[in-house]
Amino acid sequence: MTMMGMTKTTMNKLILFTTVLMAIVLTKHAFTQSAEDRFQFEPVLEKINGVSSGTAPSDAIVLFDGSNMDAWMTAETEEAAHWEIENGAMTVRPGMQTIKTRQNFGDIQLHLEWRPTDVIEGAGQSRGNSGVFLHSLFEVQVLDSWDNPTYVNGQAASVYLQYPPLVNAARRPGEWQSYDIIFEAPQYDGDGKLEVPAYLTVLHNGVLVHNHVELKGATHTPVPEYSANCVPYSRKSEQDCSGRMPISLQDHGQVVSYRNIWVREL
Ligand code: MG
Repeated sequence: MTMMGMTKTTMNKLILFTTVLMAIVLTKHAFTQSAEDRFQFEPVLEKINGVSSGTAPSDAIVLFDGSNMDAWMTAETEEAAHWEIENGAMTVRPGMQTIKTRQNFGDIQLHLEWRPTDVIEGAGQSRGNSGVFLHSLFEVQVLDSWDNPTYVNGQAASVYLQYPPLVNAARRPGEWQSYDIIFEAPQYDGDGKLEVPAYLTVLHNGVLVHNHVELKGATHTPVPEYSANCVPYSRKSEQDCSGRMPISLQDHGQVVSYRNIWVREL
């Protein structure tokens, strides 16, 4: 017998039990600590309203709400844009010229809706052709691709001449379609050398068609290339392209409408 009347065996069992219990408690405590360490409380995120049909999020910059083209100008001349506004849509007809936003943007989330005319004329690249130019340089193709074969890296939702879309989510001409685009702008160092290329994610009618693809360079240079000095689409002279740039919408000589255009800066 030992103190308090316990046998040595009973005391050993008690020590073992206590040790195991302490190990369990400490282990649990350790796990709880590491999980809590990964909880993030700051900064508290801004509360915004999400999208319901036809409505821009509350923190978006609205580029076209159906009423006017104040956010846009003719890309080449920088005079007021003069596309046709009717029934909440703005429509480019041949000769109305490519337009660009007055505001310049870096990384963005862009939403827009587009509709090729239901008057079927032309074929391939000459049917319902327009385009969304991120940074006025990188074209996401707008085209009637419902029943209108063309090269796949030139069809609707392609990154023109760089990437075909993952699927063809096109609707019939005359029906509204949507693009949701996440664009990460290229980054240049102080000497104008490319540090990080541009990346693009695109949903066409809610369907993922490009998943963070690396852009190879500007669309309409002879070969895709990056340059801190560039000629934006439909412009004629070189300019500094290493910072923020406008978004452009193309006049390709066909009838295409746009509506509900908004952008969120990232
Ligand atoms: Mg085009």
